Amino acid sequence: MNGATVDMNNSQLILHNALIATMDTELRLARLINTHVHTSQQLARGIADDVDLLTWLHHRIWPYESNMTEEDSYISTLLCGIELIHSGIGYLCRCGVKVSHCPAAAMRMLGFAPIREMLDANICVSLGTDGAPSNNRMSIVDEMYVASLINKGREVYANGTTNPTALPAQSILNMATLNGAKALLWDNDIGSFQVGKKADMIVINPSSWSMVPIHDCISSLVYCLRTENIVSVMCNGRWIMKNQKIMNVDEVEIISMAKRASAQLLKRAGIQLPQRMNFV
Ligand SMILES: [Zn+2]
Repeated sequence: MNGATVDMNNSQLILHNALIATMDTELRLARLINTHVHTSQQLARGIADDVDLLTWLHHRIWPYESNMTEEDSYISTLLCGIELIHSGIGYLCRCGVKVSHCPAAAMRMLGFAPIREMLDANICVSLGTDGAPSNNRMSIVDEMYVASLINKGREVYANGTTNPTALPAQSILNMATLNGAKALLWDNDIGSFQVGKKADMIVINPSSWSMVPIHDCISSLVYCLRTENIVSVMCNGRWIMKNQKIMNVDEVEIISMAKRASAQLLKRAGIQLPQRMNFV
């Protein structure tokens, strides 16, 4: 990286158009892109688990959204930003022109989508998390893993048997990087490491228990990577997270504001959740 744009040198090994291994045993990946998220729903995480769609809408999400204040929305967006940065996200959009596959939320609310068929037909499919009340985890790292698995399993409905070759790791990585950039209509500047593109990347520690040993970097990123392995995030040549510390924002303070705002909002909205555990 050179300033705010990409500049390659010969100590780097390019493994994929969005992935570089460096001599100092780090993996550097083009920043992941979330193409569908509801930033204002972050304070609603956990308020709509294990309920049917009508309850989800009528008794949880609509009361939540109609009782939000501007400040709630601001705090929710800040919290959402923190979570997205930790999971290696730099960009998101809600552009409906291309397909945004949100596998975790789809499994909860909608069911399967013919993603393999769309990719076979050269349709641009990217990845999204959707909102916290339908996803909870809000990590594209997790969505990569889930997207790969559910689309292998879905083949049972199409062909009578699972297909472990459906949506291989390379396709998933493309969906989380370059296809996300295409969905934003921004692929001339981001989505892959290419000389002259913006200096956008995430730095991954591949030496933790969850990733070693690595025999194939691309499949390790899709099947083993966890949000916790992401060490630093660079946006347009500027570090927005360094050594897992988000720069320029007081993360602890925002988390505490979000807890307070969420409790007050649920009370105002009259949303009551069942108690599944006894507290003493
Ligand atoms: Zn949505």
